[in-house]
Amino acid sequence: ATPTALLVGTGRGAQTGILIKGPEILESTRRVDTVVLDKTGTVTTGTMALTGVHTADGTDEATVLRLAGALESASEHPVAAAIAGAATERVGDLPAVTDFTNHEGLGVQGVVDGHAVLVGRPRLLEQWSVPLPDDLAAVAADEAARGRTTVAVAWDGAARAVFVVADTVKPTSAEAIAEFRRLGLRPVLLTGDNRAVAETVAREVGIEPGPDTVLADVLPADKLAVVERLQEQGRVVAMVGDGVNDAAALARADLGLAMGTGTDVAIEASDITLVRGDLRAAADAVRLSRRTLGTIR
Ligand code: ADP
Ligand code: MG
Repeated sequence: ATPTALLVGTGRGAQTGILIKGPEILESTRRVDTVVLDKTGTVTTGTMALTGVHTADGTDEATVLRLAGALESASEHPVAAAIAGAATERVGDLPAVTDFTNHEGLGVQGVVDGHAVLVGRPRLLEQWSVPLPDDLAAVAADEAARGRTTVAVAWDGAARAVFVVADTVKPTSAEAIAEFRRLGLRPVLLTGDNRAVAETVAREVGIEPGPDTVLADVLPADKLAVVERLQEQGRVVAMVGDGVNDAAALARADLGLAMGTGTDVAIEASDITLVRGDLRAAADAVRLSRRTLGTIR
């Protein structure tokens, strides 16, 4: 049998679905000692829900949802889908957007109903010199400390609201991470999201947060640099991701694994596709390649 058939046909490989681009990939699979995990969509489901809306004094919630929801309809980010979906549900049809710009890993910008609207990480507002009023800043800090992702909304130069969005850890992620450890692989959680959220997710899946195990606030362009730095330290790096923002890092890693539930760009950049989006399949791939090549540690 070809190695691909072997992997796909063996044990849980058959249930979870592992697609390997070519037999030469087995060798790098066998050697990996570090596994870098994207958070959103890889360790978590990536299906976000809008769980809270905090508005500034004098701003009404329906307007916030209308303007922010319209803008996010033009974005493909999981956070955007949550906001646009909730807005459509609560306020109905959303207005058109012009002058749309996506700020990768930060948020979005555009014109809606004649207002210049920004929706994204509080850091995006800072970049545009839009301060968060004290009450909204306190809400954002409090929610972030509780491990929730916050998204700020501003228009015409003033912050108007903070949204809270929540994602859930996939039920199989903790087991997969325990399995990585048994195989001698060091897991590293990598995300563009804030540190508190990243640490909360890390603990949920059995990664003790530390400066080397949880890398947060990493912009998409810097994910590649994280992989390179680990390689410079002598590590043989597997990277598991799903997003457009993971593609460069997936291509650079010694072994790139894409969630089959993720974007085509991530799948194309990878050596292995985990068809069902189940992280346990990544551990299976490593174990099976070691077994196949006769070097079980
Ligand atoms: P991850 O690395 O975990 O997959 P991303 O790099 O895609 O996350 O995004 C990092 C953060 O940037 C998100 O958690 C979110 O707060 C913010 N963000 C990115 N795009 C948008 C958007 N369209 N709307 C609101 N927030 C966004
Ligand atoms: Mg992702």
